Amino acid sequence: MLIDIRKLNAQKKYSGTMEFEYSAPDSLIEIPFVKFVTPVKISFEYDLYEDDSLEIRGTVAYKLEGQCSRCLKAASQEVEGELDAYFEPRKDYEDYGYTNGVVDLKKAVEDAIMASMPFSISCGEDCEAISYNG
Ligand SMILES: [Zn+2]
Repeated sequence: MLIDIRKLNAQKKYSGTMEFEYSAPDSLIEIPFVKFVTPVKISFEYDLYEDDSLEIRGTVAYKLEGQCSRCLKAASQEVEGELDAYFEPRKDYEDYGYTNGVVDLKKAVEDAIMASMPFSISCGEDCEAISYNG
């Protein structure tokens, strides 16, 4: 997931939309027995400014599959999260810095996935949760 800032400048593409797919590692998921079904879909609008900083605004969307967190039946859930990030052409920038004219989206995308990650997944509204009372 790389954006070549020099190329965008050369082509005078100072704004537009982009899409990526990312085979996110299951280590981003904190729910037991749940994994990504498909690659994470990333889509956003970008603006490239005169100082070579880059702003992106869009979404990360993915589908989780595994065991219902309550009754352990098979369950899946679609999730969409916000992806908003600002990249500065400096290595030491506290948010997202980049060097050598190429922005790597990986950290911003992983942050957006983790921020949108649910704490559990459910098999549905009819979930018959395991009763611990008898
Ligand atoms: Zn359930």
